Amino acid sequence: MPVHLLALAAHRDDVELTCAGTLLKARDAGYSTGIIDLTAGESGTRGSAELRGQEAQRAAELLGVTERLNAGLPDAYLQNTDAARKVVVELIRHFAPRVVILPYPVGRHPDHRIASELGRDACFLAGLARYNAGGSPHRPHKLLYALAYREDPVKPTFVVDISEQFARKMASIRCYASQFDGARNAGEIFPTGQDLYSLVETQNAHYGSLIRTRYGEPFYTDETVRVDDVVALEGQSM
Ligand SMILES: [Zn+2]
Repeated sequence: MPVHLLALAAHRDDVELTCAGTLLKARDAGYSTGIIDLTAGESGTRGSAELRGQEAQRAAELLGVTERLNAGLPDAYLQNTDAARKVVVELIRHFAPRVVILPYPVGRHPDHRIASELGRDACFLAGLARYNAGGSPHRPHKLLYALAYREDPVKPTFVVDISEQFARKMASIRCYASQFDGARNAGEIFPTGQDLYSLVETQNAHYGSLIRTRYGEPFYTDETVRVDDVVALEGQSM
């Protein structure tokens, strides 16, 4: 079943941390959404792959996604190989999304970097009629890179206002008790002394402040964003 918006990331919980608000906002607007987790989390320090699977399913229900699938690629050993691309191409073709959210190409965890490149390559290859993988050819219209928690000197191309979705985003993150209860950092999120949930709140409030709203999620696109109505542009300049 095709979805409008698909989020792809290395680990279960990555999507919740970086773009759950945007997935919820799309769902609220009547669009269908989906998630691909590339790995099952078998190499994680906390919890087990089985437990993380149950947590991910509960989070997916809260996010209202049409389907959440796992690529079963090796956690902490993710590689952008022919074999891995074939697996991801088949999943992209399955979801046939118009827009795909990928991890930002720079990351502390090597899986995050590889997931970005592997996801982008698979989105391209999925459109090749003669690429040797299952499913019908489909190339997504647009790729968005989730920029949350990155400190690299790139300005977000845009920030999505998730003020109305923020409480539900936090509920989806709280599904991962095995990962986050008592935690003070995770993935790309560095510790500040706060517990992780309050740290996520601080970060999302910061992104929101960039567009003069309570909470936001930042994204980057390679291509320039087209605007048709400059008079309606939000975000006070002075
Ligand atoms: Zn991760």
